[in-house]
Amino acid sequence: MELITNLQEIVGIDSVSASPMELYCYSSDASQIRGTPDYVVRPQDSEQVSKILKFANEHEIPVTARGAGTGLAGGAVALEGGIVLDLSGMDRILDIDINNLQVAVEPGVVHSKLNEVLKAEGFFFPPDPGSSAMCTLGGLIANNGSGMRSVKYGTTRSYVLDLEVVLADGSVIHTGSKTLKSSAGYDLTRLMVGSEGTLGVITKAILKIHPLPKARTVVLASFETPELAGEAVVKTLSEGVIPSACEILDRTTVEVLNSYDPNIAIPDAGATILFEFDGTKSSVVEEAEIVEAVCKPFASGIRVAADRKEMEEIWSARRLVGAAISRINPNKTRVYVGEDVGVPIKEIPRMLKLVQSISDEFDLPIMTYGHVGDGNLHTGMCIDMLDNEQWERLNLAADKIHKTAIMLDGTVSAEHGIGSARCEYMRLERGDALDVMILIKRALDPKGILNPGKLGV
Ligand SMILES: Cc1cc2nc3c(=O)[nH]c(=O)nc-3n(C[C@H](O)[C@H](O)[C@H](O)COP(=O)(O)OP(=O)(O)OC[C@H]3O[C@@H](n4cnc5c(N)ncnc54)[C@H](O)[C@@H]3O)c2cc1C
Repeated sequence: MELITNLQEIVGIDSVSASPMELYCYSSDASQIRGTPDYVVRPQDSEQVSKILKFANEHEIPVTARGAGTGLAGGAVALEGGIVLDLSGMDRILDIDINNLQVAVEPGVVHSKLNEVLKAEGFFFPPDPGSSAMCTLGGLIANNGSGMRSVKYGTTRSYVLDLEVVLADGSVIHTGSKTLKSSAGYDLTRLMVGSEGTLGVITKAILKIHPLPKARTVVLASFETPELAGEAVVKTLSEGVIPSACEILDRTTVEVLNSYDPNIAIPDAGATILFEFDGTKSSVVEEAEIVEAVCKPFASGIRVAADRKEMEEIWSARRLVGAAISRINPNKTRVYVGEDVGVPIKEIPRMLKLVQSISDEFDLPIMTYGHVGDGNLHTGMCIDMLDNEQWERLNLAADKIHKTAIMLDGTVSAEHGIGSARCEYMRLERGDALDVMILIKRALDPKGILNPGKLGV
């Protein structure tokens, strides 16, 4: 029997494809990494996922789990062919359990959809990726993604109570429970979060949720240099004020935003910090006053958003960054490569300064923006993809940015994951712990069928 027939018997004829056009659509994510699968399979439930993995394991066929394919590290790209398991069809919100402060979901639920539904109940799921309208909760969990609000609320990892996971041999386990805490044995939930589809396929998740805050305010502070902006962030956090978001936009980013839309609500400065506070009406006013006082000695300008409309305008400008990047090198065949380093809070000013000098050294404009409040900086470079010399400089600059972050006790990926884009740094960053990861991988997936070529394992 042909392999495709076996797969069709499990999920139905219409849920398996080997058409070249469809395979091409699944051959990339939002990174520059490419790899074409042999089959795309769309399961509808955990039982089908279990049967597919059992079959793939017996025949040693690689299986790459995929949510929405918005990953920026090539995680969902089938580097060694085989099956791409498209989980976007498993998209039911199974239970909203307000009394237990949790929801149960399938992996294909799109992030923003969950928050739309929760809003009606006065609750939200705090991790807040820029890709909210597209990415799935399965992808977010598999990458331990986060975003704007992790500075106060933490990353996805803090919200996962239990996962249903199908292991490489098709067996199904639950990693946790509905309780808000447990000390019963190894923390398999945390092991699976961030494992990027290399240890199992997530088929259900129980996630903790929060009540929506009653009030918000936004403070915009501008600085002559990114370094000064970094100093102000470190000082603010050490005063015990925790913003619900703390984003940096450097001069290049604001220039790019301005050329995309001249009415943008962000001042032109060496760097701008967008602080957001949430809580009660009085607490947000008090926190805004503290941050104004703390930033004053460092800042060239500070303003508190006058009303909800201005807050919306500022946030819309921040959300435009991804689209506006195309304004660097506007007349060329552009390619954008963004990095995702993270450093300890104290090192933020130094990292910001070093990124500037890397930009000068390689004569490449670098947009630095991102979730500076938790030390996570996105450094975006945009070049003419047909120009080999520019590629060479971009690769050298990116390498130096990664190694600088590690040198400062940081990480090469704070939220986008390792995928295949950053495997080469795993030994440098994790040292001997990488050997333990390899042992875990071999124990759970001895034939190496799950997402081969990822994470350096
Ligand atoms: C414009 C833009 C903005 C972004 N902003 C942010 C941001 O602010 N914060 C952030 O963290 N990320 C951000 N990202 C990156 C990306 O959206 C996240 O990494 C997201 O979590 C990926 O979700 P996905 O459903 O697209 O996963 P995919 O890209 O499909 O897969 C990502 C990884 O998860 C694995 N995977 C997917 N589903 C499962 C499953 N059910 N079981 C096991 N493994 C699985 C895949 O194998 C792969 O390794 C952004 C991306 C874009 C394009």
